[in-house]
Amino acid sequence: MENSAPKDLQKVVELSLNYAKSCKNTGKVASYIPELENVDPSALGIAVVANNKKIYTAGDCETLFTIQSISKTISLILALQTAGTEKVFSKVWVEPTGDPFNSMIKLETKTHIPLNPMINAGAIAVAGVIDTPFPFASFLELTRKLCNRDDIQISEKVYLSEKASGDRNRSIAYLLKSEGVLEKDVEEVLDVYFKMCSVEITAIDLAYFGSVLANDGVNIFTGERLIDNSIVKIVKTLMVTCGLYDGSGEFAIDIGIPAKSGVGGGIVASVEENFGIAVYSPKLDDKGNSVWGIKALEYLSREMKLHFFAGAKINEYY
Ligand code: GLN
Repeated sequence: MENSAPKDLQKVVELSLNYAKSCKNTGKVASYIPELENVDPSALGIAVVANNKKIYTAGDCETLFTIQSISKTISLILALQTAGTEKVFSKVWVEPTGDPFNSMIKLETKTHIPLNPMINAGAIAVAGVIDTPFPFASFLELTRKLCNRDDIQISEKVYLSEKASGDRNRSIAYLLKSEGVLEKDVEEVLDVYFKMCSVEITAIDLAYFGSVLANDGVNIFTGERLIDNSIVKIVKTLMVTCGLYDGSGEFAIDIGIPAKSGVGGGIVASVEENFGIAVYSPKLDDKGNSVWGIKALEYLSREMKLHFFAGAKINEYY
């Protein structure tokens, strides 16, 4: 007879941490934004918010780090909510690039419009269309709601460091302005973009966000709908195709969960109607994705059959 007792999800989360830590980590902490180097390189935190309304954690799940490119999902949600689909997708496409996140080669030579909102050029274009009087304040308010914590703040140090070292983003933004993609003042839009990247969160915060995405835009703890389901669909699809930049295809094959990474070392992932998952570990591979973070997600995906084509039996866990 089959054993119907639920499997121990807390144990699996702890084992995913042990597995990741047993893997050789040749990654490097991001240093092109100098302030990002001031972290513990051996940190690893994992958090899972499950649809049974329980939270499972291991390691450095309460360590603050900057959201970086994970902000690109939230700014896209905000732009779609305030400016609408037509306006947003007149400024950015939805195709994978196969290029690094800060590349502008196709923008200049081929497309003249950013290929997708999950890379720097696309996110800068998206920041330019957020249609509220104070775009960063609106972004922070939405981030607090999605992460279920109302005192989320920006890291002033990282923000100033990004601004001081952001010449590549500045060149992307001026190129976008010259192509007519950016309509607003370049420095104003960049300021919003740098601030969005510098918001400090924890793995637990991001797992809450993952849970909202997993539940079609609803916070399961309050029942509040935070995002329209048509917008959730767009964002999760882009996470699958572009969420790990030019590492998205390999991630989709190996792990198969919609996810978004950032150079702060975070990755948020969302398993349909079941789990919001987040990992934090700052050493990155050459594509800018967290090495141990990917390993932990690989373990969870394999053990719990979370891959979108794995025939999931997720309710074994609660
Ligand atoms: N703030 C970073 C940048 O603009 C974000 C990049 C990332 O997380 N991949 O370069």
